[in-house]
Amino acid sequence: MNIKEYFRFAAESLRKADIETPEFDAGVMLCCVLKCGRAYLYTHYDRVLVSLELEALDEMLRQRINNVPLQYIIGETEFMGLPFSVSPEVLIPRQDTESVIEEGIRLVKLFAEQAETNKSKEYANRAIRVLDMCTGSGCIAVSIAHYCPESVVVACDISQEALKIAEKNCRRNCVENRVGLRCGNLFNALDDGQLFDIIVSNPPYIETGVIPELQKEVKNYEPYLALDGGQDGLDFYRQIVVNAPAYLKNGGYLVLEIGYNQGQSVKNIMNQNFHDIEICKDISGNDRILTGRYIKP
Ligand code: GLN
Repeated sequence: MNIKEYFRFAAESLRKADIETPEFDAGVMLCCVLKCGRAYLYTHYDRVLVSLELEALDEMLRQRINNVPLQYIIGETEFMGLPFSVSPEVLIPRQDTESVIEEGIRLVKLFAEQAETNKSKEYANRAIRVLDMCTGSGCIAVSIAHYCPESVVVACDISQEALKIAEKNCRRNCVENRVGLRCGNLFNALDDGQLFDIIVSNPPYIETGVIPELQKEVKNYEPYLALDGGQDGLDFYRQIVVNAPAYLKNGGYLVLEIGYNQGQSVKNIMNQNFHDIEICKDISGNDRILTGRYIKP
């Protein structure tokens, strides 16, 4: 079988299994096994596939037909223009989260500018300290560290397995010197007395009852722990909002990713101890980001 024949066969098999983007997926698998770019496929249609390649491709095809997400099959994804390794121990980074990170980056740059203009000893040349709570693949921590050389980041997760992937992603993107990884349940992962300029978090926020209605790719293969936000989806927001002030510098920010319909409820939770609360939209136009500023009472 050559590339062209396998491409057709794979796309047809995927279409029959109701996979949404059969040609795209077939191409990605071929590129992964042949370690090539997409253009190579079209310019080398007659290239004959050897049996080892066919075996690998058939195994990938079998998984995809069973709705395993493509990113888990090839073990990686692109996010914020950076390569990330993923496995079923971590949520696959979503485009929605890019808007949350952009807000985090904007705030880091703002603090860095203030540090630059304020010549007092306390502020000059200091690193901006960022906490990524519930880091999963590390996509938030790694992206902020990559795009903000003036930042140092601490990233926490309850899952040791997820942190192994996050560590891999730190090394892959050369930010391992500025990202510290900690394991534990929310803020228990941290030592007391650590203070941050900015806390960013994309915690699990799906209502337990809604999970069975999600796409098969998500509900059958992504980590349940990373999805389930409790009965009303707000469990983690309540815990994060109550505990964050103890870890924020005066004037520091909390940036949360929220579900499209959670803006008002999470804002009400944040009203307890945050100021200047704002809800911002993602690029699809849905409410997605909630920011608030902590001012010491
Ligand atoms: N912070 C990670 C992400 O944005 C994991 C989120 C989660 O596990 N809920 O993908």
